[in-house]
Amino acid sequence: MYAENNTKKRGCIEVVCGSMFSGKTEELIRRLRRAQFANQVIAIFKPSVDNRYSDVEVVSHDSHSITSKPIKDAAEMLKVGPEVQVVGIDEAQFFGENLAAVCQALANRGVRVIAAGLDTDYLGKPFGPIPALMAIAEDVQKVHAICVKCGGLANHSHRLSKSRKLVVLGEKDIYEPLCRECYNAARAREEQEKHSLRLFDDQ
Ligand code: ZN
Repeated sequence: MYAENNTKKRGCIEVVCGSMFSGKTEELIRRLRRAQFANQVIAIFKPSVDNRYSDVEVVSHDSHSITSKPIKDAAEMLKVGPEVQVVGIDEAQFFGENLAAVCQALANRGVRVIAAGLDTDYLGKPFGPIPALMAIAEDVQKVHAICVKCGGLANHSHRLSKSRKLVVLGEKDIYEPLCRECYNAARAREEQEKHSLRLFDDQ
């Protein structure tokens, strides 16, 4: 892995991304804990939109948690002191388009930046600032969930609710991880249902 061998104080950007339930946050926490073991000074941030469990902790689905600071704008991360060697970012997809520039500035200062986030939204489209961040990162790791239909590797967060809002926070009652095939099949079924409802409305 790129940065685990990066023992000198050398700035870099690492991205850990995948669908929901893929273990992104667990991987972020694993890397941050190893930095803590190495006595490095770390700071952890998350967007304040995400307060599902707690306002002050990065919490993963298996409840391993690590304290983080909720912030509204990614630019607030630039205020970290010179003692900070590692910056962790959870739910990075909810930050604005300035995220890549902020991470770039931190890395250029010598900070190791580790960002975890969704790579695509529930429609399978690249999510917010993540594509730009992936492009400038030294290291990108895609992690996968397990498809609940076939047991294959899942890279889609399929939304079970009908809401069209981009950001609907929730857990297994709202999203299910699906592989490409099962996701396409589910979307095709939904389109068909929508179509037959429309026909019904016309009568
Ligand atoms: Zn599947």
